[in-house]
Amino acid sequence: MAKKDYYEVLGVEKNADDTQIKKAYRKIAMKYHPDKNPDNKDAEEKFKEAAEAYEVLSDPDKRARYDRFGHAGVSGNGGFSGGGMSMDDIFRQFGDIFGDSPFESFFGTRGQQRSSGQRGSNLRIRVALTMEEIANGVTKKIKVKKRVPCDQCQGSGAKDQSSVKTCGTCGGSGYVRQVRSTFLGQMQTTTVCPTCSGAGQQVTDVCPKCKGDGRMMGSETIEIDIPAGVEDGMQLSMRGRGNAGVKGGPAGDLLINIEEKSHPDLKRDGKNLIYDLYLNFADAALGTSVQVPTISGKVKIKIPAGTQGGKIFRLKQKGLPSVQSYGRGDQLIHVNIWTPKKMTDSEKRMMEDLRKSDNFKPQPGKTDKGFFERMKDYFKS
Ligand SMILES: [Zn+2]
Ligand SMILES: [Zn+2]
Repeated sequence: MAKKDYYEVLGVEKNADDTQIKKAYRKIAMKYHPDKNPDNKDAEEKFKEAAEAYEVLSDPDKRARYDRFGHAGVSGNGGFSGGGMSMDDIFRQFGDIFGDSPFESFFGTRGQQRSSGQRGSNLRIRVALTMEEIANGVTKKIKVKKRVPCDQCQGSGAKDQSSVKTCGTCGGSGYVRQVRSTFLGQMQTTTVCPTCSGAGQQVTDVCPKCKGDGRMMGSETIEIDIPAGVEDGMQLSMRGRGNAGVKGGPAGDLLINIEEKSHPDLKRDGKNLIYDLYLNFADAALGTSVQVPTISGKVKIKIPAGTQGGKIFRLKQKGLPSVQSYGRGDQLIHVNIWTPKKMTDSEKRMMEDLRKSDNFKPQPGKTDKGFFERMKDYFKS
């Protein structure tokens, strides 16, 4: 099934601002909320669709990518965010969108199902990749040390089942209402219960192992799908794979910083790879064939007779793919003429003879491009 346009899903204009997007999302989320539409698949689908659209359009980076590349720009990066949100993700969104509003009481019923312990912190790791890994994409298995749910209490922080009681202050809803008199009249506000911090439950006896925190130090081996074409300094994120939350709260995210290992032969320039080829001037003058390394193995190329220093040969499609667009870059082979740094006496005599020859006088013609023309060509491509 083709994905619907995110702006259409929320019913806003392409140039809608953040407030309009938020407002539109609120309206749809309220209308199709699963609590209001039990066992209604259609409503659930619309609810999820709206959440996904909101996730993208409320994030300036993702929105910019979506505007440029459509759905391809925000999904399909090997399971990174965008698309396929879980209900937990969606309810997490509500935290910032509904915030301090009358909707809180509405979500109070869900508060019990939703773990309301404090969210875990994000975890940051670095992943260094070779140029080959960047060219093809790679799955990395990485063991990360992090806070995991306590294995004795399964993250609840309670000693056992019987040491969890419904909160007396809020009666289990996790929220309390307060009526205040203001100059506008009576105002009713709903706030998170101060006793249980919104959990709706209180722990009478804490877990002896984690002292009620619900977490312990541990590790997890995480498979990270890294899409082809990533660049040094890029950051990928995996939702909910960071540190476990306090008392069963949602886990933080795993943030993956990409580092590029330098390649022994090839230099990267965006999507293109550059190789510096050194030819002695006999080979350049007579022509030859040479083997050059590429990201996918060695390739034999023909050097025509009379090749000038600074010439750039182009191997189409032998560069890198891009994460954000289609197509592959090229490999550029930059010709350098190697001048001998020392010579024997007989070599020097041969050179003296060549020096006198008319053919050795530089006579650049129209087809022999100088440095500036070559740079112009290079940036055109
Ligand atoms: Zn515990
Ligand atoms: Zn409470």
